[in-house]
Amino acid sequence: MREIPIIVLANQKGGVGKTTTASALADGFRLKGARVLAIDCDPQGNFSEAQSRLLVPGTASIEDFIEGGHVKADEAGQALVPAFPDLALWGRGEREIDSYLLADAIERARNDGTENGRWDVCIIDTHPGLDPITAQALVAATHIILPTTPDKYGLEALDQSLGFIEGLVDLNRNSVGENIGVAITMYRTIVSLHNKSAEKIKVVCKERNIKLLGKPISLQSDIQRAQDEGKSIFEVSTVLHGGILRYSWFVDDVISWINKGYESR
Ligand code: ADP
Ligand code: MG
Repeated sequence: MREIPIIVLANQKGGVGKTTTASALADGFRLKGARVLAIDCDPQGNFSEAQSRLLVPGTASIEDFIEGGHVKADEAGQALVPAFPDLALWGRGEREIDSYLLADAIERARNDGTENGRWDVCIIDTHPGLDPITAQALVAATHIILPTTPDKYGLEALDQSLGFIEGLVDLNRNSVGENIGVAITMYRTIVSLHNKSAEKIKVVCKERNIKLLGKPISLQSDIQRAQDEGKSIFEVSTVLHGGILRYSWFVDDVISWINKGYESR
């Protein structure tokens, strides 16, 4: 079976827009007609909440999934593997960082003889901190996207996260090292520090041969409203503007980034 893109949103800093970006990506892909497997690896479960309209009763949560549990997709082929609060304890002590439990679980689900074999893309949200479950997601990834805020701590977190990822690249079986991208999040044009930091992020991306995806995503209250109402951000307003428009450009850029990679093989 042809491999599918497995896109992991990661950053060791919290509150940088990982979950918001994961949801925008999953919703954006669906708008293009893609069948999405959404996986929440953050025990906080925000991604599961944001995508809860896709939850099919009786589907495996992330722990069951890793242990061989079945994913159930809805009629349209969309599926969500939700988080589980005890996930925070997963992997403490007994799990090896260099195992492929999550990667194998995705492969198994795609080959289980159901409609699951028709997923077009898998999107995985992770939690801040780089621990065994995040490592599982990173070694499974074909593409890693680091949402990064344009400020001092955001830049530091980018550097630290890239350091961690580099340590795992050898374990990844999908040459993810060539497919690392950054999205600048929570951007405010009127804040000159944001402009300066966004420029610095561009330089870091160039130096490290990392793809800077889309245009900086601006802050927009509609994005929080969508989260509050459990809707897709593309659904809350008929005219796309501000951060939501930027997210739609971001989705297009991610799609062309992924397609370019597949063409060049
Ligand atoms: P993380 O998953 O990295 O912890 P979140 O995606 O949960 O980050 O974002 C942190 C907070 O910032 C959330 O309350 C979210 O609603 C808000 N947020 C993120 N991006 C935007 C944006 N572009 N506009 C408005 N609020 C945003
Ligand atoms: Mg989150």
